[in-house]
Amino acid sequence: THFGFETVSEEEKGGKVYQVFESVAKKYDVMNDMMSLGIHRLWKDLLIWKMHPLPGTQLLDVAGGTGDIAFRFLNYVQSQHQRKQKRQLRAQQSLSWEEIAKEYQNEEDSLGGSHVMVCDINKEMLKVGKQKALAQGYRAGLAWVLGDAEELPFDDDKFDIYTIAFGIRNVTHIDQALQEAHRVLKPGGRFLCLEFSQVNNPLISRLYDLYSFQVIPVLGEVIAGDWKSYQYLVESIRRFPSQIRIKI
Ligand code: SAM
Repeated sequence: THFGFETVSEEEKGGKVYQVFESVAKKYDVMNDMMSLGIHRLWKDLLIWKMHPLPGTQLLDVAGGTGDIAFRFLNYVQSQHQRKQKRQLRAQQSLSWEEIAKEYQNEEDSLGGSHVMVCDINKEMLKVGKQKALAQGYRAGLAWVLGDAEELPFDDDKFDIYTIAFGIRNVTHIDQALQEAHRVLKPGGRFLCLEFSQVNNPLISRLYDLYSFQVIPVLGEVIAGDWKSYQYLVESIRRFPSQIRIKI
């Protein structure tokens, strides 16, 4: 396999990827905003919007890193569930909105039984995620687990939805990760993957080449003091199978 413009064996790739995310963890969120000009937020919002999780959904977010997908999921199920319950309560009991608000003081209740498990192989990324959760007040319906996408520490048929956002290209054996996703999903469960791929428009592709080769590693060096990790990022995107190959 290839890694940051050097050839490494498959056995070495996992360790190298670990070092990259260990090194970038503290600056990961700010770098995402800088490199994508904030657009990664919209892609993640869109993922949740497409998922449209119902109350009670059990979500597994693999390669969940600092929790962006998990927090969006919790916000979404909370707002959906509360909206529905408030409408029902109001209709049934003709309560005032203030009285209804009091019924929803309990955070667990407000999620309608939904839960998200964030699983990532990297301790440092999870640590930053947990700190963010504390700072932003996410407690209920959320758990963090250290684990490898290729060997998930969960029983079979456990989750309704499996997500992996910008994570699958970092996994050494993608087929193994997909088999694991299938194993832990309940029958009829859904797999949602957010990932970079190839740009087909030649003009945009040229601009993207310039940006990714000339700008991203420089940003990495200036903001995070880490040229090599961001060079890896650019290359890992390039080496990820095209949209057509991943579908097959
Ligand atoms: N999903 C988050 C997001 O969208 O912001 C984080 C994405 S980050 C680019 C990639 C994550 O994949 C890192 O947190 C890294 O530790 C994790 N990762 C890499 N290989 C993994 C593996 N084999 N199993 C689980 N997580 C892995």
